[in-house]
Amino acid sequence: MMAYVKETVNGFISLLAGLAVTIRYFVKPIVTVQYPREKLTLSPRYRGHIEFIIDEETGSHRCTACENCMRTCPSKVITVTGVKVAGSKKKRAVTYQLDYSLCSLCGLCVEVCPTNALKFSDEYRLAGYSRKDMVIDVMARLQAQQRALGLAEEVPPIPEPEEPKVKAEVATGEGAA
Ligand code: SF4
Ligand code: SF4
Repeated sequence: MMAYVKETVNGFISLLAGLAVTIRYFVKPIVTVQYPREKLTLSPRYRGHIEFIIDEETGSHRCTACENCMRTCPSKVITVTGVKVAGSKKKRAVTYQLDYSLCSLCGLCVEVCPTNALKFSDEYRLAGYSRKDMVIDVMARLQAQQRALGLAEEVPPIPEPEEPKVKAEVATGEGAA
């Protein structure tokens, strides 16, 4: 009999304890976000995948296709190609791709860039059906941002015409000792 009473009292106490927790949270401000209708403000230090910084003066990127980021990336997930532009000594990026499925967000690419061309995006809504869907075309993303901002869209630069290569005369061996 005593065991039954003890069990009932314990059950009642735990019920009250549970109710106390419920009531305490019932009167507290709601922390749940009704995503996607509501979104949290991201921390300024949030790291999404890398993207180009849009230069305030030119409205374009600052990538000179030096390949520093490509070489430094420990995961080898960056592919950048560039061309020498007519009338300029520097190259300019034509394509820039990132395999985000293997990126560790270490930030080395951002740090080594000599022209401060890269930053972390605030992108967090990423989903895909295969790894290929995680390959990010950074140049296409820049173009979309330019369109959204009403800026002139990035167009691939005109490569500098290649100088004709002088063929080295090779001795054929005829008449040679
Ligand atoms: S954040 Fe790190 S792993 Fe990701 S692309 Fe840059 S260097 Fe590579
Ligand atoms: S993003 Fe920076 S480091 Fe990478 S290729 Fe362009 S200029 Fe070089």
